[in-house]
Amino acid sequence: DEIRLENMVEKKLIGQGSFGDVYLVKTGTKQLVVKKIDLTQLSIRSQEYAHNEFRVLKSLVHPYIVAYKGGGFQGRTLNIHMEYCSGGDLANRIQDQKTKDVPFEEKQVHGWVLRLCLALKYIHGRKILHRDVKPHNIFLTDSGTIKLGDFGLVRVLNEDNLMASTSLGTPAYMSPEILQGVPYDAKADIWSLGCCLYEFAALERGFPYTEVIVPGNFSQEYGNLVKSLLNRVASRRPDAREILMLPMLVNVMGNQL
Ligand code: ADP
Ligand code: MG
Repeated sequence: DEIRLENMVEKKLIGQGSFGDVYLVKTGTKQLVVKKIDLTQLSIRSQEYAHNEFRVLKSLVHPYIVAYKGGGFQGRTLNIHMEYCSGGDLANRIQDQKTKDVPFEEKQVHGWVLRLCLALKYIHGRKILHRDVKPHNIFLTDSGTIKLGDFGLVRVLNEDNLMASTSLGTPAYMSPEILQGVPYDAKADIWSLGCCLYEFAALERGFPYTEVIVPGNFSQEYGNLVKSLLNRVASRRPDAREILMLPMLVNVMGNQL
C-alpha cells in the first residue's frame, strides 16, 4: 500500500507537529497523512523519539489505532505515512459540544471508552506505553469511529526495564507518579484515560482532580469508573482488560462488535 510521494497530486498542511509537519496527500483516489520529520532540526533525544514513533507505529495493527501506511527516510527526513482520519480529533468534538452547550450521549461515549480500552489492552499487552493519551490524540474517521494516534512519545518496556521514568507527556493528563518523577508503568496511560473520560462527561478538564465528580446526566457506573481510573495509587487503577469486563461495556460489545 506504499504511495510514492513523487506521484502525488495534492499536498495540504493539516497539522504542525511538535517534531514535524503533517500533510494530507492525495494521489488519484487515495488520500493519506504524511508526517514529515526533519531530523537535522532535532536534538539526539527527539531524534530517538521520532525513530520510536516510526518503528512502533509500523509494528501495530489494530482497528482502533491509526494505521501505518508506509514511509521511511528521504535523506535526513523521516516520513511516516498514516491513514487519514477526516473527522478531526476528540478535543475539537468536545469543544464543539461545549460551544453548543449539549452533553454527549452517554451511549456514544461508552463506544469510545470500549475502543480506547481495546487499543490500550493491545499496546499494553506488548509492553508499549503511549504516554500522551488525551483527546487531542484521539482521531475520528469519516465513519465516526475513533482511533488512538500520535505515538510520538511512545516507550517500549522490556525485561530489563519494567518501568519508565522520564517525566513527559501533557501536564494536565500526566499521572501523579509521572508528576512526582517516580517510575511508572501502563497505569500512567490508565490515569490519562481517566482524564479523557472525565472530559467526555464534563466537556472540560478536571485537572488537578482533587475531587472527581462526574456530571449527574452520566450514570453512577460511569462516574465510578472515572473515579477508579483517577486513583492516585497506580496499582489500584484497573487495567484495560479489567475495564473491558464492566457490564456497561460488555453491553456495547454485544450490540456493536
Ligand atoms: P504531535 O506530536 O505534533 O501532536 P500528531 O501526530 O498529533 O503530532 O499530529 C499533529 C496534528 O496533525 C494532529 O493534532 C492532527 O490535527 C493532525 N493529524 C495527525 N495525524 C492525523 C491523521 N492520521 N489524520 C488526520 N489528522 C491527523
Ligand atoms: Mg498530538
